[in-house]
Amino acid sequence: MSLFESPFFKDAYFQLESAAQTMELDPNILERLKYPKRAIQISVPIRLDDGTVKTFEGYRVQHNMTLGPGKGGIRFHHHCSLSETAALAMLMSFKCALVGLPLGGAKGGIKVDPRLLSRQELQSLTRRYAIEIGPFIGPDKDIPAPDIGTDKQTMAWFMDTYSQLTGYAEPGVVTGKPICIGGSLGREEATGRGVANCINFAYEHFGNKIDRKTTIAIHGFGKVGIPAAEILHEQGARIVALGDISGGIYDKDGLSISKVLNYIEKNGVLKGYPEAEQISNDQLLELEVDVLIPAAIDGVITEKNMKNIKAKMIAEGANGPITKEAVDYLVEQDVFIIPDILCNAGGVIVSYFEWVQGLSHFFWDLTQINKSLHDILKRAFVETANKAKKYKVPFKKAAMITSLNKIQVAMRSRGLFP
Ligand code: GLU
Repeated sequence: MSLFESPFFKDAYFQLESAAQTMELDPNILERLKYPKRAIQISVPIRLDDGTVKTFEGYRVQHNMTLGPGKGGIRFHHHCSLSETAALAMLMSFKCALVGLPLGGAKGGIKVDPRLLSRQELQSLTRRYAIEIGPFIGPDKDIPAPDIGTDKQTMAWFMDTYSQLTGYAEPGVVTGKPICIGGSLGREEATGRGVANCINFAYEHFGNKIDRKTTIAIHGFGKVGIPAAEILHEQGARIVALGDISGGIYDKDGLSISKVLNYIEKNGVLKGYPEAEQISNDQLLELEVDVLIPAAIDGVITEKNMKNIKAKMIAEGANGPITKEAVDYLVEQDVFIIPDILCNAGGVIVSYFEWVQGLSHFFWDLTQINKSLHDILKRAFVETANKAKKYKVPFKKAAMITSLNKIQVAMRSRGLFP
């Protein structure tokens, strides 16, 4: 598949072109933003536990690095491709610029189902991947982080591999690390906290406040969905439905998040949770709720189910969970969409804090981290609201315009080499 062929890349590209048209972006800037700066494909051979060698396909795409080093996660997923990684790298450029981070956009991944590998095999895979992309990454070049299928352990192996090559501990090479080796307080729950923050900002924007009447459904009760559910529940919202890989659970009176988490700890998945109705993930997405949070993966709200969506507000916890056709349709139906590049930016914001803390060898307390996260997101939300008003466009497009404005100013100021 060519770099530009996946439906996800086409959607990201369309968002870029459409915002560029509305804001009359300099065509020379648009021309450059259509293409990633670098798209690297590598082979990642590892020895499996049975002694045989298997080679996996790996990628790192750096989209635009005008504002600073590349930043973006590493995904281990069986659908991962170079084109999908390029789309995600592009979204990272827009995300970092929107929230004002001095970072560019990048993304990486390996086409693999990590659930099929042992811990030792995953460690070999991560270390070999780190070696293969080694020449292109580093604290001043490009800083990976966790994404779908990777976590703090993956980052620890990555950091260790890189540090073996340099000969000293290099915490600035990745973010999302365990606290004991330079991770940041608040990083693990940062994306979910940012989603919760953005939903609060959206309610304030409409002159409302979250309360016990506010019903919320979360598709993807994982790294993003769990902290979002905990925080929103604590703030008084009613979490009526949760879904994971095993299916969904529903209680119109609201689920107890702590009881659900206890159940998952014992049983691994949501399926069979006794104090709620069992529903499918498709049913969850179509529930009549105030807020729907698709926090699992891209492309879950499409032409197929868009007409059945009844939520009044959708907070894009995942990257690209709503396809272009579905965005257009839902916006027409007056559904308020909090765009992914704003809604899930909490992760990369606290990653930025982690990177800064690593470079300065000085660590912040959680109060400072959560406050700075809140303030950065609030500023980006207000800037987006202003652009939405100025151009009379939905929030999704307004976020792109806000971001492209910042990238355009920086690219013009640096100029084109040579
Ligand atoms: N993978 C996350 C994202 O899509 C976080 C990236 C980072 O922390 O660098 O935003």
